[in-house]
Amino acid sequence: MTDRKAQLAANLAQVEERIASACAAAGRKREEVTLIVVTKTYPASDVRILHQLGVRHVAENRDQDAAPKATACADLSLTWHFVGQLQTNKVRSVTSYADVVQSVDRAKLVTALSAAAVRGERELGCLIQVALDAESGERGERGGVAPDGVEELAAAVDAAPGLRLDGLMAVAPLAGEYAGRQRAAFDRLMEISSRLRAGHPAANMVSAGMSGDLEDAVAAGATHVRVGTAVLGVRPRLG
Ligand SMILES: *Cc1c(COP(=O)(O)O)cnc(C)c1O
Repeated sequence: MTDRKAQLAANLAQVEERIASACAAAGRKREEVTLIVVTKTYPASDVRILHQLGVRHVAENRDQDAAPKATACADLSLTWHFVGQLQTNKVRSVTSYADVVQSVDRAKLVTALSAAAVRGERELGCLIQVALDAESGERGERGGVAPDGVEELAAAVDAAPGLRLDGLMAVAPLAGEYAGRQRAAFDRLMEISSRLRAGHPAANMVSAGMSGDLEDAVAAGATHVRVGTAVLGVRPRLG
């Protein structure tokens, strides 16, 4: 085993242990939580190693980095998640490799994603990104729609050709009433998810939790955790 492979294997084992413990503590089955490894800023060679180690879900947040990486790994059976703020001029590129876009947060983006999915003859999974700290009608600093805008956007995704409404995504807010209160933030997200599922039963994905707070997300009921640093190491640059 190369040094890098041994390192990633050890890190993955630790993250796996954390997820398993969190599931046990919450009385949940381990299979209820899917690990998505966030490979942003790390090379395609790492994605390849992660695949060898059994990872099947990866996430990226910038099209410029993600597009060449996805092309270099096109031979691997991987589900690619896009989790970054998405400009409409990048939508065509993202739709060519992403299976799920987790950062859907405005109607204009829904229209663009739908057009690109239809054009590319793809079905694209969509999560509505919720900005838990955003005021009504506003968007979050790191993207996301305010909680009271979720239903309208969900209906738009549901009605859009080529798109599949899969559920919700959130990042724990750094400021506002939820700052430092990840568990409360994720509980709030689960409430919003319950409401969404009442009208859209298949939209049952809840993507929450990162390296620092995956336990809180699992405890609240997240179905997907997005872990970067704890698997790949501290990122060399902002991303
Ligand atoms: C980078 C990123 C993650 C992973 O964060 P870590 O703290 O490195 O685990 C998760 N979600 C989103 C949206 C990200 O941009």
